Amino acid sequence: MPKMIFARPDGQWFDLPGLEMAAMSGNHLQVPVKPDLIPLPEGATLTLMPDAAPIGFDPEAGEFLLVDENPYKKKSEPVYAVGALLPQGFTRLMTPAVQCGERRLPILGYTAVGVEKGRLVVAAAATDEHKRWHPKHFNTDDLPELVRQRQEEFPGNRVIRQLSRCALEYGCFTAQNIFYRRWEGGLPASPSCNAACLACISEQPDQCSPQQRIDFCPQAEEIAQVAIAHLKQAEDPMVSFGQGCEGEPSLAYQVICRAMELIRQETDRGVININSNAGSTKAIQALLDHGLNSMRVSLFSPFDEEYAAYHRPQGYGLPDVRNSLAAAQKAGIPVAFNLLAYPGFTDQENGQKPWWSWFGNTACARSRCGISTVTPASWSPSTGMRPGR
Ligand code: SF4
Repeated sequence: MPKMIFARPDGQWFDLPGLEMAAMSGNHLQVPVKPDLIPLPEGATLTLMPDAAPIGFDPEAGEFLLVDENPYKKKSEPVYAVGALLPQGFTRLMTPAVQCGERRLPILGYTAVGVEKGRLVVAAAATDEHKRWHPKHFNTDDLPELVRQRQEEFPGNRVIRQLSRCALEYGCFTAQNIFYRRWEGGLPASPSCNAACLACISEQPDQCSPQQRIDFCPQAEEIAQVAIAHLKQAEDPMVSFGQGCEGEPSLAYQVICRAMELIRQETDRGVININSNAGSTKAIQALLDHGLNSMRVSLFSPFDEEYAAYHRPQGYGLPDVRNSLAAAQKAGIPVAFNLLAYPGFTDQENGQKPWWSWFGNTACARSRCGISTVTPASWSPSTGMRPGR
């Protein structure tokens, strides 16, 4: 079985041969078995979990053990848990086995990780192709120069200014695609939101959100300028509203509708998509009437109570989301679900069946609704972790 690993304060990680890898499903400690484990995918990164002590499994005693001091050091030294951040196309099955301290953890998609015969393994599964989202396509040496060129191409454009920060500082893949001029490019549009999701990556009470939410509402002309260039020139182009650095895009529907008018006056090429909580059916209907081509809706649970507990919606509820989905279906556009998967919750037997009532209990309904389970945050800042041995 894989061994547990832990990190020193300087980011070096070590394995502890006496203890096996442990993991968590919800609040339950578990020992992952072979079918749960895959080699650490290319493009994944390891991150130290601040103020979280690792837990391992002692197979002889049959017990889970907390490791809060470095067993290799005579002088007392605190140690920390390690989590793996997965690239797109992979879904975590278990989270790291930890005992958290007072400090809130940064909002990241921590996955349980261990080491077996010198090779890192994670409790995860490959759930989607990630050819185009493979990290090898991003953060390339020519990116800063491409960013400079776009800034020169669109002087004073605040959307490009924001995307420059997202691409270079946050490492956001959809922002980078705008500079690489290919595939799905991100277009942030809204500084405000009608929800307060527990794991929102752009706004958290104690500054532990990995990204800062935009503080301005772009003009339709600024949005259209960037979108037209992308849709006209990019390979297999798509532009998407609803990025990690903004609030709920549909709240800026009047600006987006005007931008879509300007865009479609210049080109009918490519897809205009929105990633949304779909809480405002009025806004979604207006966007559909102005030519929206596809929609992706984020959902934590199909149950009203759990939905409200996680998304903390203001002025709408699941029935409104259903109405927005019905409007999209009537308009005949493809709809994808951004299922916010949490091990120990989403994978519970009683948690799954209701989803199918959402999608309709037919195979074609399943295939028609693109279901992608996403580990939040499609980027992963490297914490400079390196093997300590
Ligand atoms: S809908 Fe999006 S922006 Fe709004 S709180 Fe949720 S995750 Fe954050």
